[in-house]
Amino acid sequence: MSETEHDLRRWVPVHQGDTYCSPGCGVGCTWASYVEARDKATRLAAEMGPDWKPRVWENLGWYWSAVGPEAHVEISPSPRMDMWSCSVGDRGVLGRGNTPAVALRAAIACASQKAGEWQEVVSLLQRAA
Ligand SMILES: [Zn+2]
Repeated sequence: MSETEHDLRRWVPVHQGDTYCSPGCGVGCTWASYVEARDKATRLAAEMGPDWKPRVWENLGWYWSAVGPEAHVEISPSPRMDMWSCSVGDRGVLGRGNTPAVALRAAIACASQKAGEWQEVVSLLQRAA
């Protein structure tokens, strides 16, 4: 087994009694919290649209989100569930809102504004060329 395989296996959760936690995490995450995260992710993905997929992951607890048809688009809740974030890959969070749809629209508005700003730079460069 390579070192990389070993590292990956450290993050495979083990279901034992009430716990569902990987050796890499080790805080004793519960099966119930995994199921809750999985179900919430599934409901959110269904709410967002037919091509959205649920995502759950473990990191000192179970977290969840929905990933869009363009895999870099992701909607996730804040820990207290009072706010939603829309992120796009390594560009991070572009929009927030009190519902998933509002967060998505805020991200579209943010990206549109950034595109407009860059279009001005393109125009400047084209005039200078
Ligand atoms: Zn854990």
